[in-house]
Amino acid sequence: MGETQHIRPALSGMNIQELERTLAGLPGDAPYRAGQIFSRISRGARSFAEMTNLPGPLRETLAERFSIRGSTTLEKQEDRDGTVKLRMGLAGGASVETVLLVSEPGDRLTACLSTQAGCPLGCVFCKTGSIGFFRNLETGEIVDQVLALSDLVRDRGKRISRMVIMGMGEPLLNLPALREALDILCDPRGFGFSKRKITLSTSGVYRGILDMAKNGPWTDLALSITTAREELRRRLMPGSAGDPLDRIKEALELYQKKIKRRITLEAVLLGGINTTGADAQALADFARGLSVVVNLIPWNPVEGLDFDKQALRKPPPEEIARFRRMLESRGLGVSTRYRRGRSICGACGQLGTLPAQGEDAAVAALPSLSYNSSTDSGSQPR
Ligand code: SF4
Repeated sequence: MGETQHIRPALSGMNIQELERTLAGLPGDAPYRAGQIFSRISRGARSFAEMTNLPGPLRETLAERFSIRGSTTLEKQEDRDGTVKLRMGLAGGASVETVLLVSEPGDRLTACLSTQAGCPLGCVFCKTGSIGFFRNLETGEIVDQVLALSDLVRDRGKRISRMVIMGMGEPLLNLPALREALDILCDPRGFGFSKRKITLSTSGVYRGILDMAKNGPWTDLALSITTAREELRRRLMPGSAGDPLDRIKEALELYQKKIKRRITLEAVLLGGINTTGADAQALADFARGLSVVVNLIPWNPVEGLDFDKQALRKPPPEEIARFRRMLESRGLGVSTRYRRGRSICGACGQLGTLPAQGEDAAVAALPSLSYNSSTDSGSQPR
């Protein structure tokens, strides 16, 4: 749909203070201009010419020196159930996917955002994990996903009401950029999202959860636990092997003390692998002392993924129902999520398009996985 190269810096990833600094000295600038631009960007302005509340010379200078967004929609796919998946082209040639989820009666629109192009964690059941890691997204590239998804519904007089950080990548390995993006998205002078309507899903990065507890963002939290049998979990989610479950639980307890809301334990159900009585018991043991709901996500088939040399399979309904009963009989609250968007691979664990050829495409080697709370999101090893 468009070019991916952007030479001019984009404004969508700047908060109001950064915009103020950027605009200082430009013709027609005044202290309130940054707020005006911030608000127009959040309401979907695609060009500076549309910002008719700005003086002409300022609009012209902005158009010469800056772009509004830094990423471009390359491809759009729509499922019969209303789910829309966009592939966004990023500077340097990488691409990332983002999804609009539409609730059954169509009244609730949720943006599912990605935080990394690819993912370094390599969970065996996840398409994103199978394509390798390319790079962290920048603040603006996260905000641009919300802008692009909002474009799809604005004409119908609708707006996105919820966000889930469950797309490509491990959000806590790109926390500084995500934190900045959420600050922009939650600013009442612009998008005005409520942090209570945002859920961040992590594979369990211990230091990242501690960082969130201390410094925010204080969103709802979901732990993609898959199984609480440590050994099996290590094999299913090899990238999270460094953080044992007792430490992850310790971090969750701290986080829950801070947000005082329920935490979701997500278990992608893999037929014949993590649906046994031992898995149910381990999950119940892990949940003890925490206020949780367990979300069962029957695995969405992705061709070519296997475990122990066996092709992964989706569990049949009776296996899902049996596992659910085993959890409920142990006192756990359980919901089952049959993910939408399956025909376009927009469902959980199905995101992942190989990037276009470009400089980022060459950086596909897995990085080291140390956690780094630096605010320079571009410099973090993954
Ligand atoms: S499930 Fe999440 S953490 Fe695991 S590989 Fe996929 S995107 Fe990464």
